Amino acid sequence: MRLILLIDMDYFFVACEELRNSEARSRPTIVGTGNAESRGVVMTCNYEARKYGIRSGMPLSQARSLKKDALFLPEDFEYYESESKKVMALIKEFSDRMEEVSVDEAFVEISNRASNYEEAFEAASELKKKIKERLGLPCSIGISTNKLMAKMACEKAKPDGIKIVKAEDAKDFLKDMPVGKLYGVGIKTRERLERLGYMTVGELANANPMLLRDELGSFGTELINSANGIDESEVIESSEIKSIGRERTFEIDTSDKNVINAEIRKLSEEVFSELMKNGFSFKTVTIKIRYPDFSERLKSRSIRQTRSLDEIVLLAEKLFEENAEQSRKVRKIGVRVSGLLRQKGQKSIAEFS
Ligand SMILES: [Mg+2]
Repeated sequence: MRLILLIDMDYFFVACEELRNSEARSRPTIVGTGNAESRGVVMTCNYEARKYGIRSGMPLSQARSLKKDALFLPEDFEYYESESKKVMALIKEFSDRMEEVSVDEAFVEISNRASNYEEAFEAASELKKKIKERLGLPCSIGISTNKLMAKMACEKAKPDGIKIVKAEDAKDFLKDMPVGKLYGVGIKTRERLERLGYMTVGELANANPMLLRDELGSFGTELINSANGIDESEVIESSEIKSIGRERTFEIDTSDKNVINAEIRKLSEEVFSELMKNGFSFKTVTIKIRYPDFSERLKSRSIRQTRSLDEIVLLAEKLFEENAEQSRKVRKIGVRVSGLLRQKGQKSIAEFS
């Protein structure tokens, strides 16, 4: 039996602030974006703030009207990232089969140290306690036999809890939830499913597979599986390398599309061969454009995790097309991919040779 944990730090940014700011510990506290207060949004808030109806994603102005004298702090990503590194290092100590999902979330496969739900619960309690004691940060943990259900369980464990969903209970656990709550269903998909008449996860679970396939392609089939609590995907170890990029300065500044696109293709091929050497897939492509006055533009776009040269070239060309200043000469061009993942068990070419 596979046993997987999803560890999700509770109200992470504010929890980090609470570590260094005693005021934040005793007051409703909100971390928002930068100084643009009129247009900023709430990134995270603590449970004190939630009592007043404040939620992440909400405009700061609205949060202010709900609780004027709450503590409003600007984000400090560098600090949160340094705390995140400590958390991830602790989790890694616990199991080397670990996939970082974001700064405050990670999957861990513990099938090698737990053989049943009770042992998994004990292991999760131990890890949770360790994170709290060593770092002072609260987290919640979901436990199940696949990543999807571990994630869904964790939502119910919040805040500061541990929740197991056994394989045999997965369908029941999901069935009354609104479809929008299902992992992987964003706003657009939710609206589409609702238009098709699927309001709850249970209704989606019993959907006609042919019909949903016609409507949504292979994603439709995936969704029915998810709604039934089925997910075969592996815990994929995060890589140490964060990105791979190449850039080149033109011999003569140019605005010639053919010359530029040829260079984008060449750079993409170099990046791609480096990716393959390491056995990585990627998620994000970034283009860098430098003009003769040394001003620069960096633009990125993310897609699903993939390992295709065409996607790099296509995205890089598109990003250039959309963001380069009309007919202005370019001095230097760069292509970079990030969001790298290496499949567990897949060795890099370097390791073979
Ligand atoms: Mg979190």
